Amino acid sequence: MKAIQEIFSLLTKPRKVVITTHQKPDADAMGSSLALYHFLTLLGHSVTVISPTNWAGWVGWMPGTDNVLDYEKKKAKADAILDEADWLFCLDFNIFHRTKTMTEKLKELTCVKILIDHHQEPDTPSFDYGVSDTSKSSTCEMIYDFIVDSGNADKINNEIGECIYAGVVADTGSFRFSSTHSGVHLLVADLKSKGLEHGKVHDLLFDNFLENRLRFTGNVLLNRMEVFYEYNTALIAIPKEDLIKYHIKTGDTEGLVNYPLSIQGIKLVALVIDRDEERKWSFRSKGEFDCNTFARKYFEGGGHYNASGGRSSDSLQETVARFKKSMMENKDLLQ
Ligand code: 5GP
Ligand code: MN
Repeated sequence: MKAIQEIFSLLTKPRKVVITTHQKPDADAMGSSLALYHFLTLLGHSVTVISPTNWAGWVGWMPGTDNVLDYEKKKAKADAILDEADWLFCLDFNIFHRTKTMTEKLKELTCVKILIDHHQEPDTPSFDYGVSDTSKSSTCEMIYDFIVDSGNADKINNEIGECIYAGVVADTGSFRFSSTHSGVHLLVADLKSKGLEHGKVHDLLFDNFLENRLRFTGNVLLNRMEVFYEYNTALIAIPKEDLIKYHIKTGDTEGLVNYPLSIQGIKLVALVIDRDEERKWSFRSKGEFDCNTFARKYFEGGGHYNASGGRSSDSLQETVARFKKSMMENKDLLQ
């Protein structure tokens, strides 16, 4: 994989560009994809964003989402656009299988593939150019760097600013995670000086839900959370019946995993949701517990040091039992 800087001089020639990201895109995935979409469109490229799956309502407000193709719904159209592409940008993921049903298609494409991502253990041989930097707060921060470092800081408009800010806010836990280095605040200061209305973005991200979601959260915290003080660990296991009862849609469960971190002394939070096709895990830690290694070792997953995810084909009951066993195995690391 060649350095991302090597494509800067190639940006002036208009190309057919596809931007894609991980399945069920969150604010960083969608924000980075759309910020890059607006930027490359301004430079004269013909750009399409393809999401491997649908996305949550709380990213649907981002400028440009109406033009995003959902691969599961528009496969034939998306495949035709992918076949024609000169460049494929892969944002906020670093291994093709995180695009679910798009995986085989991406592998067979012969166009130039470019990676911009901040997760651990990238599959660099699959990309021609790129940057993979785990010290970055978010992929949105990396898109900001891409625009500025390529000499195009003057192109950052309100649309680009809102998309970038949304991803930065989401991936830094509103500027609280340790990934929030000083450059993140300098980036925000720059966006503010360019006219960003940060309060508007917070409202759209965090105060934009239906009543059912709040009641669902109440139910989960009351009835579905177990705390293991001996292991400084909290576990939330959400059965399918809750998802049905509260009409839970894509993205409604985002952020739930963070609630137990507010309990004194909690070092690890694990949340599992009984989805149709699999049991999906999320892990969050405080301080010295490596969620990435844990997710890779026990739940076919990965991510970052303090935030990761994984999956299981076992039943909810079985995968929860497996979690409890792995928690006990890690007792020394959790104390
Ligand atoms: P979340 O819990 O919010 O779904 O994911 C937390 C972090 O772990 C995100 O950065 C996400 O990209 C990553 N992640 C989530 N699930 C998986 C997975 O199954 N495999 C890998 N490699 N990373 C994941
Ligand atoms: Mn991210």
